[in-house]
Amino acid sequence: MQALRHSHILRGFKLNLCRRLLTQSCTGSEQLELTSELKHRIEKHWNKHMNNIHFNTKDVQNKYYVLSMFPYPSGNLHMGHVRVYTISDAVARFHRMCGKNVFQPIGWDSFGLPAENAANERGVAPAEWTKKNIAQMKQQLERLGCSFDWAHELSSSSPEYYKWTQSLFLMLHKRGLAYQNEALVNWDPVDKTVLADEQVDANGCSWRSGAKVEKKLLKQWFIRTTAYAKQLLDGLDDPTLRDWRDIINLQRHWIGECNGYAFTLPTSASNLLRVWTPNPEHLKDPHAFLVLRNKHYLKKLSNAEQLSVENPFAETTIPVVFNDEAAFPADCDVYLAAPTFRVEDRELWDSLGLAFCITNKDEEHINPGNWEQLRKEVLQAASRLNVGGYRVSSKLQDWLISRQRYWGTPIPIVHCAKCGAVPVPEQQLPVSLPPRDAGKDSLLCDCPKCGQSGAQRETDTMDTFVDSSWYYLRYLDAHNPNEIFDAKLANNFMPVDLYIGGKEHAVLHLYYARFMNHFLHSCGLSPTSEPFSRLLVQGMVMSRSYRVKGSGRYVRESEVEIVNAKKNQALLKATKEPVVMSWEKMSKSKLNGVEPDDIFNEYGTDTARLIILADVAPTSHRNWSSATFPGILNWQKRLWLTLDDFKAAREEQQPEEQVDTASEAFLAEDAKLFDARNFYVKGATFNYRHAHQLSVAISKMQGLTNSLRRTPKHIQRLGKQFERALAAQIIMLAPMAPHFASELWSKFVSVPGRLNAECEELQWTEDVLAQRWPDVDAAYQLDLSIKINAFENCVIKVARNQLDKINHSDAMDIAFNTDSVTSYLIDKKIRTTNFVLYPGIEAILNIYVERLPKAQKSAKSSNDEGKAETK
Ligand SMILES: [Zn+2]
Repeated sequence: MQALRHSHILRGFKLNLCRRLLTQSCTGSEQLELTSELKHRIEKHWNKHMNNIHFNTKDVQNKYYVLSMFPYPSGNLHMGHVRVYTISDAVARFHRMCGKNVFQPIGWDSFGLPAENAANERGVAPAEWTKKNIAQMKQQLERLGCSFDWAHELSSSSPEYYKWTQSLFLMLHKRGLAYQNEALVNWDPVDKTVLADEQVDANGCSWRSGAKVEKKLLKQWFIRTTAYAKQLLDGLDDPTLRDWRDIINLQRHWIGECNGYAFTLPTSASNLLRVWTPNPEHLKDPHAFLVLRNKHYLKKLSNAEQLSVENPFAETTIPVVFNDEAAFPADCDVYLAAPTFRVEDRELWDSLGLAFCITNKDEEHINPGNWEQLRKEVLQAASRLNVGGYRVSSKLQDWLISRQRYWGTPIPIVHCAKCGAVPVPEQQLPVSLPPRDAGKDSLLCDCPKCGQSGAQRETDTMDTFVDSSWYYLRYLDAHNPNEIFDAKLANNFMPVDLYIGGKEHAVLHLYYARFMNHFLHSCGLSPTSEPFSRLLVQGMVMSRSYRVKGSGRYVRESEVEIVNAKKNQALLKATKEPVVMSWEKMSKSKLNGVEPDDIFNEYGTDTARLIILADVAPTSHRNWSSATFPGILNWQKRLWLTLDDFKAAREEQQPEEQVDTASEAFLAEDAKLFDARNFYVKGATFNYRHAHQLSVAISKMQGLTNSLRRTPKHIQRLGKQFERALAAQIIMLAPMAPHFASELWSKFVSVPGRLNAECEELQWTEDVLAQRWPDVDAAYQLDLSIKINAFENCVIKVARNQLDKINHSDAMDIAFNTDSVTSYLIDKKIRTTNFVLYPGIEAILNIYVERLPKAQKSAKSSNDEGKAETK
């Protein structure tokens, strides 16, 4: 029956895996207790045999791109990293065992302020500091047993990467999507850098240093992300996006309703003013004027009273007044008034006591009734002149990418006294970071345009969110020296099938990455506009924190005496002061962090992997507590014993009685294992593949362990189904605990007397990681659930090989031949139906019916009341 399985999967296997022969077990035939020392021995032995799987760029049909957000190389993994990379690795290994050509790359988000600050404190170069940290973290990830494709490793601070970040900037610049403007910026006085609005918290403090943010006027580089606002908003309805859940709403809220248009118009103070209006045709009004709130930054200019704005649409100069009384749109400090169009604006003009400016234009040229045509003209001209005119919400601003810091991607621009801001020619990239102690002269160069000497390099570097906005594309072609990446590779392997990361990046990083992919899609470099099909937003790792009541000082767990855990009562050992206990995100400042290395050393890395995956879904916050460890520790011991018992049962020299394997009693016992295997394979597979509830997959596997442990010795010895179920158990464990499962498997295959030796489903001569994922048997009965208005009406049992073939209309036929459905549907109107098939797992037919009309309902309820009264 296994031969029936999808032939493409088999083909995929042959292409993907350089066949590895069975690796010798490290414990051999010794019977040993599963101690931490033994686990370390097992992990050390298997670690070097485990990770030689490579992504095959030729196998496109079977591709599966699993991406986890790349870490900032702070020097040490924290438990949040352990969680995200374990989830990613378990999913990647699962798909690989299902025959997919999995791409699971890793790299380093290595530019940024913390490295610069840390390196400064230590008197070393940021590059050196970063390199050391990367080496350390790479070692930890390897110890964790993650099957990353290291051949595609990249680091955003290496010239071979930032060269292309610069190239991307030039592409944007060429298309008018990168521009410079003077802007009032958020200035962090501690880190001495500009912060984006979103890096300032609700109290007006820096997200990083915590300092009170000041406002400062500076010339800055922007990326015109608002040009894609409408497209990015509409993209959220893209049917390829799955499991985005509340992230869709966060993104939607961030972008806002695109109910107007933004323009960037030059002012007499030689900068650009953002003007947002729902009525762009108003720019055709020769009498248009602008009202700016008094708090607007342009008010601070010395010549603010004479300020005006160029209006290329009416070929006029628009006067600017400062006043707080106009009908400002939400989140805007600028109001475009058009007296020809609006009576209120004419009144406003009068109330401001201003006289109409005299223009050459005649008023009658503008007919407000003709607004549609006027709007079209304005938008077309705006696009031609590159002054905006994009549909956008009133609140969404362009992306300010300038950072006045050293450790970032240098912006590839040269400022020439004659030519202005000139892009560095592509062939001169990368513009490298100068040595930090280099003097000002090192910034001088010849102008690429006019050749004059004395031009000056731009000293701003880019926001690190630019680096991380496109790394998923570079991974595919990480070492290409000639182009940003091979568009054909992107075409074959994008979009990312599953993107895993923390919710803290749900707005900014995902927004910028989506923008960049939409942009690259428009350039023909990415096949889809949306870069990430499916999201898995993992929750935080929390731990108990202890704070002294009153002072609020955090103390370590070891300093605390717990009086009553249930009532949350604790005292500081030294002073007997009361201590407040709570669950908070692990962090150094709260003294509640747990070092992954300590956990690895004490319990083993596979145990750490299982603990972090067990009990709660990946999307939930997880409270890290040693109270949850015994469940996993005992399970591992039980699995270990199961193999010992299996071996003992098979090796028993003189069975106490002759067993009749054809007897009804024997077959019934063995059939239990057939059912258990199928039931738990179905459950675990669903959670690995569809729901991503890896904690539930673990409890399904534990269910199978219980069935195996309950099996009588003679069935263990002679039951074919027992042997298959035990094999499935070890194989399903492998993505989560690859070292441990490898050792269990080598013990399993070394046991003599194989009963399924000829069966194609088990590759007896290969390691567990080269096994095919167990499948539900063709004859096993699966569920076709019929639900009406989300309530289960009935469950029909269908053999697996039949269920896989059922389509929507078959399911409807079955439903209409089922009494419980037809009797329920009598005198109800079907509104809609849908059908979901999870091949080899289950099928669900949803029927939605109209609710009873109100009149009927109230008649019914008054009847009921009548009945109650007669009682
Ligand atoms: Zn020049």
